[in-house]
Amino acid sequence: MFVGVDLGGTHLRTALVDAAGSLRHLRKVPTDIASGAKTTALRLISECQTQVRMAREAGERVLAVGLGVAGKVDRNQGKVIFSPNLLALNGYPLARELQHALEIPVILENDANLFGVGENWVGAGRGLSNWVGVTLGTGVGGCLIFDGRLWTGDDLGFAGEIGHMVITPDGPPCVCGLRGCLEAHASGRALMEGIAAAVASGSLISGRLHDLWQSGWLTPAAVYESALAGDPLARGLFRQLGWALGLALAGVFSVLGIGHAVVGGGVSAAWDQFIEPLQASLAAHSSMLDRKDAVVLRGQLGDHAALLGAARLAALEASTPS
Ligand SMILES: [Zn+2]
Repeated sequence: MFVGVDLGGTHLRTALVDAAGSLRHLRKVPTDIASGAKTTALRLISECQTQVRMAREAGERVLAVGLGVAGKVDRNQGKVIFSPNLLALNGYPLARELQHALEIPVILENDANLFGVGENWVGAGRGLSNWVGVTLGTGVGGCLIFDGRLWTGDDLGFAGEIGHMVITPDGPPCVCGLRGCLEAHASGRALMEGIAAAVASGSLISGRLHDLWQSGWLTPAAVYESALAGDPLARGLFRQLGWALGLALAGVFSVLGIGHAVVGGGVSAAWDQFIEPLQASLAAHSSMLDRKDAVVLRGQLGDHAALLGAARLAALEASTPS
């Protein structure tokens, strides 16, 4: 058995995963990063110890742990380098501490890369050699799978970061400090900021989205519901999301000579609102690739992709002699 961990800005999720990819004992607790790095690390250790104990009670043994964290990570040092949603963890040797406490190997990786490993293993990427993965959540993550394996580049702590490809150099500001990144056009945060901008400019002065924004209850899911109900502002924001993602994928496909993408993450639930503009933009911005060769698939593993990917990466590393 392997333990998969997905440490996000809001929730810490763990699961036991067997060698066939079935997931058991899913546990979810608040990350509570506001209490600091040490408290978060202790909570992580305690959740993993619970999983190890549950495996033991079932007569199984945990061989390794895969730990997914949003942000830039140093796999070799077992350290988080920079995580925009978990700032307190920057520079923190999270995986090293976990490994020390559990006395089993812990493999640290970026959560979008683990989405790729998971979908590649038992999801939409199964059987595909080469593809680019995109996770649409609060931010936009990405990964590259080449020859059926996760591409880690020059081990700089990131790879496949499509979210920070600049789409419009004079566009809206991105959390990374640049302007007009894909993430600034195509994330849950971008949808919320689109509503905020409409309120600020006076073009949105009443209605459901206005009221949700005013009360602080606006979510990307609410923007999607409004789009489904025909709200032109919400629909326009999803058109913009599809346009930007199609433009980014056209560049990636052309550079790499590949034709497949897998799109997941919470905001991909709004698929019907952005897939047509995405495909139109992809076709409009590709001069090399035939339209029929460009295939954009929806992720199949939902919330579980990174957890499964974490466990799979742990299994792969545990079976590779170092
Ligand atoms: Zn950016």
